Amino acid sequence: MLAAVYHGPEDLRLEERPIPRIGDRELLLKVHAASICATDLRIFSGQHRKYGADTRRIPGHELVGTIAEVGSGIHEFGVGRRVFIAPNIGCGRCPLCWRGVNNLCPDYDAFGITLDGGFAEYMRVPEAAVEQGNVIPLADSVDTAAAPLIEPFACVLHGQDRVSVAKDDVVLIQGAGPIGLMHLLLAKRNGAARVIVSDQFPDRLRKATELGADHVVNFTTDDVVEAVARASGGAGANVVLVAAPAHKAMEEALSLAAPEGRINYFAGLPKDRPEIRFNANLVHYKELIVTGSTGCSTSDCRRAAEIVCSGAVDLSVLITGRYPLGEVQAAFQAARRGSSLKVVMELD
Ligand SMILES: [Zn+2]
Ligand SMILES: [Zn+2]
Repeated sequence: MLAAVYHGPEDLRLEERPIPRIGDRELLLKVHAASICATDLRIFSGQHRKYGADTRRIPGHELVGTIAEVGSGIHEFGVGRRVFIAPNIGCGRCPLCWRGVNNLCPDYDAFGITLDGGFAEYMRVPEAAVEQGNVIPLADSVDTAAAPLIEPFACVLHGQDRVSVAKDDVVLIQGAGPIGLMHLLLAKRNGAARVIVSDQFPDRLRKATELGADHVVNFTTDDVVEAVARASGGAGANVVLVAAPAHKAMEEALSLAAPEGRINYFAGLPKDRPEIRFNANLVHYKELIVTGSTGCSTSDCRRAAEIVCSGAVDLSVLITGRYPLGEVQAAFQAARRGSSLKVVMELD
């Protein structure tokens, strides 16, 4: 089979590899589509802690495929079933896994991160993933190229749960990349009264307007404070979702939030510069709730798949590039451009 294999920073090679063999309690997946995420770009540039210097691994953790082979000990899945694969496999033996938050498990495995992932024609699905519910059947109506986006959408779902976006909220989303735009789609679906989106790229802001943003702000030329004040009648944003790895956005979130506002640091910061200036008095006097979120659990993926399968959210609007696996290098270069949203590898 053809596979894109990590050989070191900026060195992703197309290789011919044997199709993985599976055990009695495992599945073999024929991959149909896999999308490139910021995490993959971090892997590609050699910045991911699970990809050490001598790692040789197939990345790709946002993927969809059909079951090509079923181990003799498995009866719940049949060959030919189209499925989405939730990427994170918790250890299953720690209190975090028992509570269902396997995205926080300290001893996890994940497709494309610690296990071979979806930038290959076939992928082995180990027993733990089958047993823990990572294999999620999809409705026929879901577009194959858009189905891998269920994973980042599950992360967004998880993130908004932490700040309970609800009806009548004024929501500020900092960052109009694919994640920020998914936050927009979900906040609208959750009944937010007004959604304000800020970014520096006019194309992305245009897309945000197209997808239903009530106000867009270019923070390089416009005053975000004033825009939020205008949209909220001077009160501030009830919810601020920081979907950009930017110190300034995280610091400003505290002053842009309304009294009793909820803030989610959805994005992380570069690991060599993770500190921000944090005005504790804003948190104190406004009784703010500041939280964060990372990744998604398997149950988040199941809920996200349900929403996407119901047709309530169409993620295909976020795809800006489609490439065959043979053009994986070009796909990564495209994904790096600021004008790109989601770039998808199509393997059929
Ligand atoms: Zn991802
Ligand atoms: Zn665990």
